[in-house]
Amino acid sequence: MKRAVVVGTGAGGATAAKELQGNYDVTVLEAGRAFAPFTTDTARLETLKKTGLLLSEKLVPLLFPAMKILKTEESMVLVRAAGYGGTTTISTGNALRMDRHLRDIGIDLDEEFEEIYREIPVSADHQGKWHRITRRLFEVCRGMNLDPRPTPKMVDFSKCTRCGRCIFGCRHDARWDSRRFLKIALEKGARLVAGWKAQRVVMRNGRAIGVDTSAGLRRRYVPADLVVLAAGGFSTPVILQNSGVPCEPSLFVDPVLCVAAEVPGAGQDKEIQMPFVAQQDQFILSPYFDFLSFFFNRKWAFPARDTVSLMVKLADSSTGSVSSRGVDKPLTDKDRAGLQRGVALCREILKGIGVPEEKMVLGTINAGHPGGTLPLTRDESTHLHHKRLPENVYVADSTLLPYSLGNPVILTIIALAKRVSKICNRNISDF
Ligand SMILES: Cc1cc2nc3c(=O)[nH]c(=O)nc-3n(C[C@H](O)[C@H](O)[C@H](O)COP(=O)(O)OP(=O)(O)OC[C@H]3O[C@@H](n4cnc5c(N)ncnc54)[C@H](O)[C@@H]3O)c2cc1C
Ligand code: SF4
Repeated sequence: MKRAVVVGTGAGGATAAKELQGNYDVTVLEAGRAFAPFTTDTARLETLKKTGLLLSEKLVPLLFPAMKILKTEESMVLVRAAGYGGTTTISTGNALRMDRHLRDIGIDLDEEFEEIYREIPVSADHQGKWHRITRRLFEVCRGMNLDPRPTPKMVDFSKCTRCGRCIFGCRHDARWDSRRFLKIALEKGARLVAGWKAQRVVMRNGRAIGVDTSAGLRRRYVPADLVVLAAGGFSTPVILQNSGVPCEPSLFVDPVLCVAAEVPGAGQDKEIQMPFVAQQDQFILSPYFDFLSFFFNRKWAFPARDTVSLMVKLADSSTGSVSSRGVDKPLTDKDRAGLQRGVALCREILKGIGVPEEKMVLGTINAGHPGGTLPLTRDESTHLHHKRLPENVYVADSTLLPYSLGNPVILTIIALAKRVSKICNRNISDF
C-alpha cells in the first residue's frame, strides 16, 4: 500500500489522516504529546495574580504545557496548542461555516460541509441557559441593530456544565475537538508518531520521498509516497521553507481586543464562551471572558466573577511573515482603525448595560487564527495544489486560506482538508 505522512493532528491533520487511512498506509507525525486540560481553578489563579508573579503571558506554558505563546514586536500575544488535537483542544467550540472567500475563487465545499454536519454535532440551542448578563448584552446589541445571533457550537449541551473554561480544554468531553477524528484514523490502522517534529520534506528529482523529523538531538527519517502538511499556520510555512518552498509574507492572525469593566456578580467567567456573535463589516463582536488579559494585564484589576468583557475579533490585513526565526506581524493603519471601530461599539454596548465610560479598560491584543502564507488562487480551485509544491506534497490547513476570515475557522479547515484528501485518494496512482 502507498505510504502517506500527515504532519499535525489539529483540525486539518486529524481530518486528512482519517480520510486517507485505508487508501494509504498513514503515518501521523505530531510534535506534541497527549493533551491534558488545565485544571487549576480560577480562584487559585486569582490568588497567584495578586502576588504579582504573573508577569508575562510567556509563563503560560509552564502552568499549561499544551498552550504555546509567542509575542510579536508590537507585543501581540500569539496563541496555539501543541499536542494531540492541536489548537482545536483549546477552542471555544464555535462552529461557523466561513468559506465565502473560497467560494469567491471558485471552490465549492458544499459536499464537505454536508459531511461535517453529519459527523460533528453542532448546536446553537443554548440561549435558554445564558446568564442574566449575557441576555442583557444580547438585548442591547439587538437594540443597536447589530444583528447578534446565538453562536453555533460543536458542543454537546447535555454534557456541558457551562464552566466557561473551554480554552483550557474541556474536562467533560462536551466539546468536540479533532482528537475524535484522530482516534478514528488510528482505529482504521494509522500509526501515530508523537513527540517528533517534522523539520523538512526530503525531495529527490522534484518529488517528495519522505520527511526528516527530530526529537531533541535525535533524528529520524520517515519515508513517504505522499506528504500532507497540516502543522498549522505558524508551523507549516516553516517546514515548507526548510524544504526549499518559499511562502508569501501574507500572514493573517485575526487579532482579538477586549473591552472590559467591573459589574458586580456578572459571572461571565462561568458562562459559555462567546455565546453570541454579531457579524460586522471588518470584525465580529462577542462576549468573551479573556483569561489572558484577566491574568496578565494589570488594568484588569477586578475579580473574575465581577468581570464583563466584550471581544472584537478582526479580519486583519495579510501582512505578516513566518520563518524559523519567528513571526513578524505588524498591524496596519486599516487594522488599527478596524479595532478602534469595534472598541467604540463595545463601549456603546457596555454603556447600554449601565457601565460608565471611565470604568472601561482595554485588554491585551492576542490572536490564534494564523494562516494565509501559501494562499490558494482561482488557478488552483479544482485541484487545491499550490503550484510551488512538488506534485506529491499537499497542504491541508489554514496556510491555504486566501484571506483572514476574522471568524472561527475550524470547520472551514476541516472542509478544505476533506477536499484535499479526496483529491489525494482519487489521484493515488500518480503518487
Ligand atoms: C484560544 C483559541 C480559541 C479558538 N477557538 C476557536 C473556535 O471556537 N472555533 C474555531 O473555529 N476556531 C477557533 N480557534 C482557531 C482554531 O483552533 C485553529 O485555527 C485551528 O485549530 C487550526 O487548525 P490547524 O489544523 O491549521 O492547526 P492546529 O490545530 O494548530 O494543529 C497543528 C498541529 O500540528 C502540530 N505541529 C506543529 N508543528 C509541527 C511539526 N513541525 N511537526 C509535527 N507536528 C507539528 C501541532 O502540535 C498541532 O497539533 C481558536 C484558537 C485559539 C488559540
Ligand atoms: S463550557 Fe462546556 S464545553 Fe466548554 S469546557 Fe466547560 S463543559 Fe466543556
